[in-house]
Amino acid sequence: NDALMEDIVGLCKRRGFIFASSEIYGGYNGFYDYGPLGVELRNNIKQAWWRDMVQRRDDIEGLDSTIIMHPNIWKASGHIDSFSDPLVDCKESKRRYRADQLFFAPVILDGENVGYVAFVEGTDGASIIKRAKKLRDNLDKKQSKLDEAALSSDHTEFTEATDAQRELTLAPDANKVGTLTAPRAFKLMFETKVGPLADDSAVAYLRPETAQGIFANYKNIVDTGRVKIPFGIAQIGKAFRNEITPRNFIFRSREFEQMEIEYFIAPDADWKALHREWIDTCTDWLVSIGLSREGITEDIHPEDKLSFYSQATTDLMYQFPHGEQELWGIACRSDYDLQQHQKHSGKSMEIFDESSKTKYVPHVIEPSLGVDRTLLAVLTAAYTEDEVPNDKGKVEKRTVMKFSPKIAPVKAAVFPLLKNKPELVEVAEKLYKKLQRRWNVFYDASGAIGRRYRRQDEIGTPFGITIDFDTIEKDGTVTLRDRDTCEQRRVTEAELFEFLEEQIDG
Ligand code: ATP
Repeated sequence: NDALMEDIVGLCKRRGFIFASSEIYGGYNGFYDYGPLGVELRNNIKQAWWRDMVQRRDDIEGLDSTIIMHPNIWKASGHIDSFSDPLVDCKESKRRYRADQLFFAPVILDGENVGYVAFVEGTDGASIIKRAKKLRDNLDKKQSKLDEAALSSDHTEFTEATDAQRELTLAPDANKVGTLTAPRAFKLMFETKVGPLADDSAVAYLRPETAQGIFANYKNIVDTGRVKIPFGIAQIGKAFRNEITPRNFIFRSREFEQMEIEYFIAPDADWKALHREWIDTCTDWLVSIGLSREGITEDIHPEDKLSFYSQATTDLMYQFPHGEQELWGIACRSDYDLQQHQKHSGKSMEIFDESSKTKYVPHVIEPSLGVDRTLLAVLTAAYTEDEVPNDKGKVEKRTVMKFSPKIAPVKAAVFPLLKNKPELVEVAEKLYKKLQRRWNVFYDASGAIGRRYRRQDEIGTPFGITIDFDTIEKDGTVTLRDRDTCEQRRVTEAELFEFLEEQIDG
């Protein structure tokens, strides 16, 4: 749904959630900056995760390791040798693509499938047909009929390349498509140099995942004596990947942030049951921050697609504006990483298990989630256009971000009904200052009250608090407005604080 993505990107820029990085220089592909509301939303997502996964659990410890680490870590983890994506170049347009981003339209000649035209999402039908005709003409000058019906402008009928098609089409000798180079491995890690010597010994990498920082510190944390199997180590932090084609707004960028856990278990533990438990925990957490359960599906990686050390991987998929895509990967990685580090560092990665009185290198379950992808999922779930009565009783269209109060960037807005009545302003400002000690709240005295509500609806502020004449003349109660239902009720200050606490921090 391109229109939805455009609406979300537009709102994010207009209201100060997300900007293209280096925008005054024309932007920088694959990099994004978070504005005043974006940084609040982002922090709230991270804090909710940290609170639920680390602070409110007894079996998980936190960590904050560095972005640049000893290069041997990436040797041991396998990233230096194999962290790459297959890349193809288009000889005509000189553009680069990740091989798995290509779609293939079959070209039929005399009822026989003679090849495929490769194209990327968004290519218009006419140009695919033109390319297909050229291919056919090259193959056979006979005026056979090209199956144009199969090349309609609706691309949904073309499936993503199967491996067989990709091989056929991209093999250098097949030359069926003619315009694409054979796929080659493109290294995804960003390189840099550390120290004054600019030679090869100075090469280091920006981490492409936070997980290896956890494995590298596993021994330190075990030695602090705070943990016993099963236990987890959690980390939130930046990761960098030189993606061939960053796209879909913040879904795939070159600098992003991850929230990862390595959950260490005994080698003979029922890992399937624990994996299932983690899948459920992760799903419930996404629901708790406002994603709908129906929008989340599980993609179980088929066994023959797993890396040799991996026992199972299930991705939690979410219905993003550009389709159903991976949000959270939950992998059972056996003892592969710790064994690798044990081998390369020469340090024992064994732990003594008090309950079974045995020593072993534990296995891990790894739930790995992107902050930015979560934020895009949250924006997608929240974005709503509806119709509500305005203050004159007329029905009005509005855009409203239905963020959960837990993660909403602004929790409540305080409005004095009129800005030229000092008695109202004074009470409103006092309440605002009091609320501000606890939460990120907003004060707005300007414009008609309906317009002020609408401005807050658009940035997803869940509660509006209005100070009116009843507040100062009668009982001190204020009007509390609910963003989603627009319902209003009068509450005392004590009731207000109790309600907000339950909604925001509960
Ligand atoms: P993809 O197949 O989409 O490239 P991946 O399988 O390589 O993702 P992992 O290595 O499993 O991803 O990374 C774990 C999580 O980190 C992903 O589920 C996603 O939420 C996030 N992530 C990975 N790459 C990016 C990126 N380029 N931009 C934003 N988030 C990312």
